[in-house]
Amino acid sequence: MNSLVKKPFLRLKEYVPGKDEDYVKKRYGVEKVIKLASNENPHGASPRAIQAFREYDRLHIYPPSHPEELIQKISEYTGFEESRIVVGAGIDGILEAIFKIFIDKGDRVLIAPPTFPYYHTLAEISSADTVRVERDENFMISNPPREFKLAIVCSPNNPTGNLEREEVVRSLIDSGGIVFIDEAYVEFSSRTLLHLADSENVVVARTFSKAFGLANLRIGYAVVPEWLRKFYLKAKTPFPLSTPAIKAAEAALDDIEYMEKTVDKVRKERQRVFSALRKEGLEVFPSEANFLFVRLKVESSRFCEELMKRGIIIRDCSGFEGCSNRDVRISIGKKEENDILLQSVGEVLEVLG
Ligand code: PMP
Repeated sequence: MNSLVKKPFLRLKEYVPGKDEDYVKKRYGVEKVIKLASNENPHGASPRAIQAFREYDRLHIYPPSHPEELIQKISEYTGFEESRIVVGAGIDGILEAIFKIFIDKGDRVLIAPPTFPYYHTLAEISSADTVRVERDENFMISNPPREFKLAIVCSPNNPTGNLEREEVVRSLIDSGGIVFIDEAYVEFSSRTLLHLADSENVVVARTFSKAFGLANLRIGYAVVPEWLRKFYLKAKTPFPLSTPAIKAAEAALDDIEYMEKTVDKVRKERQRVFSALRKEGLEVFPSEANFLFVRLKVESSRFCEELMKRGIIIRDCSGFEGCSNRDVRISIGKKEENDILLQSVGEVLEVLG
């Protein structure tokens, strides 16, 4: 049967997620594991969102294909009209629909490594012509090409944490292709590019997975031009969001204060961890997201393994295109988790010399 499988992307290696808690417990015999590898909100979702999720029990009924009340609340949150909002199973789901709509074999897709790996996966699946865009020493996109069908801008960028310059993004928009702006981490940052969604060729995507603490429920949304919404509704899967997820997202938007409080804590801790890691002599980059990008003097795999022995999982970025085998990404945890991280980093640096 294997001979029936011919698509070139199927020859690629499958996505390897970070190590999970159970693996680390068993492999290293540690009792408590701190996971700082997937940029989740360590304070979790609003209790009101969790309650709304739990209360829904009509699980034999299909969810609405078009969750109007949620879209109305997203419209209020973003300041864009309901006719401009679409939802999907995370930004992952939204990206998938955008690739389905626009990208055929050989179409030029601009990607600026190092960045979120799923962009590359979708470009491969679509047999696109991936055009790699350079970044400067602060990881900002510089001199992007003018010819493309789709350009992907991640701001703040995963894994480097920096925002993109508005004038560079505007120059991409002026070239006329579709510009997809991924703002997964925007709530942790000081600046948004959402106002650029006024242009007819811009999509700004966001998620409930990060600041809102609902990663497990897979809820994303995007502000799109009105003409694109029609096509999006044709390209999306019929029921991208479950009703418990819709209810939780609505409740989360009714409790913005909770989200803002947790974001505030994360930002304060980000500053503290940043300074402490720099004091240890590490090369840490300024971040506008809920993680820090660190360039080590030792191999990232050894550094990560030593931390796992101490029950801490961070992200080894050596597999990210555009990263070296000395790059790691550390999500910001709760204060007490960060304390343990900092102490362990000190020990690991001594062990590795
Ligand atoms: N974009 C970026 C930059 C991300 O880091 C992630 C999650 N790791 C996603 C999108 C996917 O988010 P979601 O959970 O909404 O699919």
